[in-house]
Amino acid sequence: MVFCGRVYNLEKFPFFMKKKKPATNPKLSSQQCHVLYEKGTEAPFTGKWLYNKEKGNYRCASCGAELFSSDTKFDSGSGWPSFSDANKKNIELKDDHSYGMQRIEVLCKNCGGHLGHLFDDGPGPTKKRYCINSVSLDFEKKEKVRKELKKDEKRKK
Ligand SMILES: [Zn+2]
Repeated sequence: MVFCGRVYNLEKFPFFMKKKKPATNPKLSSQQCHVLYEKGTEAPFTGKWLYNKEKGNYRCASCGAELFSSDTKFDSGSGWPSFSDANKKNIELKDDHSYGMQRIEVLCKNCGGHLGHLFDDGPGPTKKRYCINSVSLDFEKKEKVRKELKKDEKRKK
């Protein structure tokens, strides 16, 4: 199967077959494909969403599934966008023993794309840190949220 200009071995990437909705975005860059489907990692402090403080939703760059909310985003200092919580119905967690480390891999449940890893050193009540590659995410700004907030402020006055 050729995807993103690369030849993929379907045995190595079974999610193309298994997932009901691969719904892969044909506009993905080769870096996005590398991270999402070859479990790559973007260089720290290079991702475009790292310092994004706008309100909105982070979606899977490949299939558009809603994954994280800006409400749970925090600056972990790790160099990757970090979230203390996730939209669990669209997230799959898997034990990852690669590189001699014991980590938990975070995947998009919908398309099987690799997003990043989950650690137990996060802030707040969840104590979770979803350490996610920017290239695996699309951001959807929430204008609506802002308008509603303004309305609330007016009401309070
Ligand atoms: Zn996806």
